[in-house]
Amino acid sequence: MKLLSPVGRLPAGEYAFMEFYCNDLTCDCRRTFIQVIANGQPGILASINFGWEKAGFYRRKMPFDRNAPREITLGSLDPLNRQSEFAPDLLLMFQTTVADATNCSRLSQHYQIFRKTLGKPF
Ligand SMILES: [Zn+2]
Repeated sequence: MKLLSPVGRLPAGEYAFMEFYCNDLTCDCRRTFIQVIANGQPGILASINFGWEKAGFYRRKMPFDRNAPREITLGSLDPLNRQSEFAPDLLLMFQTTVADATNCSRLSQHYQIFRKTLGKPF
């Protein structure tokens, strides 16, 4: 994604949102872990958890955590992984421009394609 004007404190530039998926076939978590990198800036700038299903799906999966369904469906910064000073701005960009209906559908498709490749020889 190319950003033409600054968002918050985020410098204008080119940012890549890299998707990762769970490789446990016994787990159908329907979430993605996203790390954000930028052209010309070293390291991981943000680590985001996001799920494209409705909140009720995650509520059934995680009845022990009241906040998880909302955090997952809105997108949230992962507390265990690397963040930068720009992480809150990148999360806002993700929530307002990347996590739309078209991309939710795309993420869901990528998840299904990824899961189909698990366990198969390359
Ligand atoms: Zn999983």
